[in-house]
Amino acid sequence: MRKPLIAGNWKMYKTPQESLAFLDAFFPLITGHERDEILLFPTITSLAAVVQATAGTSLNAGAQNMHWLDEGPYTGETSPTMLASIGCCHVLIGHSEQRLYFGETDERVNLKLKAAIQHNLTPVVCVGEHLAEREAGHTEQVLRAQLSAALRGISPQQTHKLVVAYEPVWAIGTGSTATPEIAAEAHAILRHELAACCDAEVAERTRILYGGSVKPENISALMAKPEIDGALVGGASLVPRTFAEIVHYA
Ligand code: PEP
Repeated sequence: MRKPLIAGNWKMYKTPQESLAFLDAFFPLITGHERDEILLFPTITSLAAVVQATAGTSLNAGAQNMHWLDEGPYTGETSPTMLASIGCCHVLIGHSEQRLYFGETDERVNLKLKAAIQHNLTPVVCVGEHLAEREAGHTEQVLRAQLSAALRGISPQQTHKLVVAYEPVWAIGTGSTATPEIAAEAHAILRHELAACCDAEVAERTRILYGGSVKPENISALMAKPEIDGALVGGASLVPRTFAEIVHYA
C-alpha cells in the first residue's frame, strides 16, 4: 500500500517570515488530515525555520537541492550533512529547472541520490521529457534513460525511501497539465523501469508523483489513477488555501 504524498515546491519564493506566515494559515486547514503525507520544499534560507515549525506535526520539509559531498570548496552549495544537521529529512533531486538552467546532469543526479541514501534523507528524484522529445515519440526512451541513470549502482535495498516524480517539462509552470491518461502512461513506464533496474518489489512499493501545473481543479482526476501516488505542486503550493484544497482532493 503506497501512502499518497502531496509535496509543495516553493521554488525561489518566500522569505522565512513569509514561509512561517504560510504555515500559520495552512496548519488549521489540514488539521487531522492523515490520508496523505504532506511535504514542503522551501528555499534554503527558510528551510531551518520550516523544519523547526513543522517538527512533531504531520508536515515535513525538505531541501530543493543539495551537493553530493559532505563539505568542500563549493561556493553556494549545501551538503547532505548540513541538511541532516538542521533536522531536514527530504531532498528534491534533479528538478527540471535545475537541469534546464543550472546544468544538472544525470550523472550528478546519481551522485546526489547516492549521497541522500548514505545520509538517510528521503530523495524525491524528478524525471520528465521536453515537449520536442514527446512530439518526436521519445518519451519512453527519455524517461527510462533518466531513471536508470539516476539508479546506477544503487541496490534494491537502498531504495526503500525513494520517491520518483514524473514532471513533464512542458507542463511545469505552463498551466497545461498532462491529462490523467498521459500521466498514468508515463508512470507505468517508470514503474516498469524500476522493476528492470531494481526488482518487482521496489517497483510495487515506490511512490511516483505527478508534477506539472497541478491545481485544485485537476488533482482529483489525476489522483483517481491508481498509477499516480501523489503530486509535486509548484505554483499552486504557494497559497495556503489553494494548497490545502489540493491536499483535500476528492
Ligand atoms: C514544480 O515546480 O515541480 C512544478 C510542478 O511546478 P508547477 O506546479 O508550477 O507547474
